[in-house]
Amino acid sequence: MNDTDASNVTGSLPTGLATVEREIVTACRDAGRDRASVTLMAVSKTFGAAEISPVIAAGQRVFGENRVQEAKAKWPELMSAHPGLALHLIGPLQSNKAKEAVALFDAIHSVDRPSICEALAKEIVKQARKPLLFVQLNTGEEPQKAGIAPVDADDFIARCHQTYGLEISGLMCIPPVDEAPAPHFALTAKIAARNGLKLLSMGMSADFPIAIQFGATHVRVGSAIFGHRPPLV
Ligand SMILES: *Cc1c(COP(=O)(O)O)cnc(C)c1O
Repeated sequence: MNDTDASNVTGSLPTGLATVEREIVTACRDAGRDRASVTLMAVSKTFGAAEISPVIAAGQRVFGENRVQEAKAKWPELMSAHPGLALHLIGPLQSNKAKEAVALFDAIHSVDRPSICEALAKEIVKQARKPLLFVQLNTGEEPQKAGIAPVDADDFIARCHQTYGLEISGLMCIPPVDEAPAPHFALTAKIAARNGLKLLSMGMSADFPIAIQFGATHVRVGSAIFGHRPPLV
């Protein structure tokens, strides 16, 4: 499935959600996995309450945002109107936003440097909150992309625990757009396994069935659910 297949989604009808759910069920069946082993995160960045509300009404409970400020502007109201929602941060985090991030998010998928570890550790203790933490890998070693290089992953994961007392639950990756994603998913799964990490945040609209085949526990799906995002964001 690709963005074009999802372009009939109007943005206010949860048609895309039903299609994605069917594809997850199929991918799980093909991989011999339980549907319950995969969490679908609906990535709602750039969309407002008008587009998000029908998706909540259709039963979706886990949402992803990539910017702390944007999430802070729209989610507190939606969350108080709909108890039981979970919000995940999937975009880059700055140390000076750690306080807000720990207060607002149930999971953070972008742990990728010591300064973030330090800021998160401090806020986690202070706020007595325990968001799920994922270390972001830069499996394609792309200079413009955030994340830890695969060769540094074992050390960084150990350091998160030993130096900062952070409990890391899994790994996240975003494969290069112009490459087949499978080798990136396989590498991420391998690094997680050898570090005893159970969760794998991988797979987006274009490739979530492949990610499920490689063990994804959290797929991050935006445009296939909400339709195309406005450009320039
Ligand atoms: C936007 C985004 C997604 C969702 O992308 P789609 O292609 O719209 O499914 C997933 N992961 C991250 C980190 C993102 O920023």
